Amino acid sequence: MAKFLLITDLDNTLVGDRSALEQLNQTLMQVRQEQGLLLVYSTGRSLTSFNQLRSQEPMLAPDALVTSVGTEIYYGGSTTPDPDWSEKLNQGWQRQDVLSITAHFNDLVLQPEADQGPYKVSFFLEPTLAADLLPRLDVALHIRGLDVKLVYSGGKDLDILPLHGDKGQAMQYLRGQFGISAEQTVACGDSGNDQALFSTGPERGIIVGNARSELLQWYQEHNQDDIYLAKANCAGGILEGLRHFSYVQ
Ligand SMILES: [Mg+2]
Repeated sequence: MAKFLLITDLDNTLVGDRSALEQLNQTLMQVRQEQGLLLVYSTGRSLTSFNQLRSQEPMLAPDALVTSVGTEIYYGGSTTPDPDWSEKLNQGWQRQDVLSITAHFNDLVLQPEADQGPYKVSFFLEPTLAADLLPRLDVALHIRGLDVKLVYSGGKDLDILPLHGDKGQAMQYLRGQFGISAEQTVACGDSGNDQALFSTGPERGIIVGNARSELLQWYQEHNQDDIYLAKANCAGGILEGLRHFSYVQ
């Protein structure tokens, strides 16, 4: 079997069932040795928050790490983000202008400073308010000429990102960096900010069994052969999907 790129979300996808994660790790270590594997973690967390999780969970060292919902990329344990990726996101991104618009929306609660990023403005937003507020916010931002993307996830997190700064675009950029085809790439996730992993291109996808309703709804509307909805939860669902696509035995 050929080398492949596994890109996975962390909270409630890779992490969430300790014994399933340990079992998946065993398989991935063997795959890494025998057929070759590029392992990428893609998370909404900041680098600091990722390091906290890493100290608590038995996670393999990744080849690359994508943090802050696709807006920062790190390689092999480096703490300096890929400057070329940052430069791409910087084009047309006006963080202060975004904040001046969001200040008019009282239901948006700014997340702590540690969860903000140079290319990400993050709020808490009640799910009952989201359906009404998000389209109004989108219009307000675009009237001001701000080309941004709104990503609502987990029934609480609203991230405002540069137009090309989501998890899906970061995955495609990394495929290019590593020289891996879409057919040899598989992405895994559980919530709304992972949707971009499944809708950006022809890469394979695994949605874990415990996925959030917002992602399941999207899946039901965009059911495709190259996306597998697992029965098992978290890392168990990843392993089930890797077997389904015959990446592992
Ligand atoms: Mg998640």
